[in-house]
Amino acid sequence: MSNFPTHPIPYGRQHITESDIEAVTATLRSDYLTQGPKVGEFEEQFAAYVGARYAVAVSNGTAALHLCALALQVQPGQRVITTPITFAASANCVRYCGGEVHFADINPATALIDLQAVRRLLESHPKGYFHGLIPVDFAGLPVNLEEARMLADEFGLWIIEDACHAPGGYFTDSRGHQQSCGNGQYADLAIFSFHPVKHIATGEGGMITTNREDLYQELLKLRTHGITKDPAQMHRHDGGWYMEMQELGYNYRMPDMLCALGISQLQRANEGLARRRQLAARYDEAFADISGVTSLAGAGGHAYHLYVIEVEDRKGLYDWLRAKQIFAQVHYIPVHTMPYYQQFGWKPGDFPLAENYYQRCLSIPLFPSLTDEEQDYAIACIREFIDR
Ligand SMILES: *Cc1c(COP(=O)(O)O)cnc(C)c1O
Repeated sequence: MSNFPTHPIPYGRQHITESDIEAVTATLRSDYLTQGPKVGEFEEQFAAYVGARYAVAVSNGTAALHLCALALQVQPGQRVITTPITFAASANCVRYCGGEVHFADINPATALIDLQAVRRLLESHPKGYFHGLIPVDFAGLPVNLEEARMLADEFGLWIIEDACHAPGGYFTDSRGHQQSCGNGQYADLAIFSFHPVKHIATGEGGMITTNREDLYQELLKLRTHGITKDPAQMHRHDGGWYMEMQELGYNYRMPDMLCALGISQLQRANEGLARRRQLAARYDEAFADISGVTSLAGAGGHAYHLYVIEVEDRKGLYDWLRAKQIFAQVHYIPVHTMPYYQQFGWKPGDFPLAENYYQRCLSIPLFPSLTDEEQDYAIACIREFIDR
């Protein structure tokens, strides 16, 4: 057994380099703290990275989801489908606009929303009953958005891809083409988060990507109070100072100094992704011969935000690892079982595959700066737990 670590090993963490720090301090010495040149630069580079036409930087991933729901004009009472295995924000954005959240169960092999279950749900109601679909590229495994789009078109839904776990991920479409997460080919909008555990970390931060010019223009306005300074869009022009508030928007801007950090981090995104995939392959290999530990299905385009294993005694393993300085985590407590969502009639038992997954799942350490030695230690601790 490897040495007992001097510091806890978390399931995920940011990686900050000297050049990241220099990028931030340079903006502190510049004229701009909030809306300076780094915002547009980050948006342009991020759009290019995921292969989308437009990108809008916002305060965080939750703000990104909220603005998407607003731009798609979610109204009170409108019904939107998402997965129970996600962070609550994927569902909450619908509630911010007064919409109703509905769920479809997961595919137990991947823990992604099961598009067959979505189809059954859609077919059991009249057309027009549902308005939108929010698939989540859970753990970094991309949802097949080509299939989701066919379903969405058949039933008149919009799609917001929650790609927080999957920058750099892709799925392979029916013509054999790699479709990058957030590239806007199939989803109307996609969102990303730059929370410290995510691939690109800026503290707080988020991004919306789209290929739709109409939604792009709307998002720019909503991000800044619903105000436009574009003379071509104004109803009148009182003078040089004039700007026009045309609808109720928010201050969801991402500051220049955090965009500078994002740009710096983006330069290492592929390197981090390669390391995540390498670590995941090492885990796959190790667990292939530990009966009692199963891993979620992999794929070539997996972005490996998380490495999730399933075990019979998940609580036992969680506590065991904790005592050995390994801070694993559970992703996620099914959203429909949260007390807030139970007030709408959702209850345990509604989505048995998601609930069964929740009983067994554990996210173990996976981040680019995790060393082989630390990973070997984690594997040894898990093996020891199974063999005890
Ligand atoms: C992190 C995350 C969010 C929210 O992002 P924040 O930047 O923390 O607001 C939303 N959805 C998923 C799937 C996430 O992992």
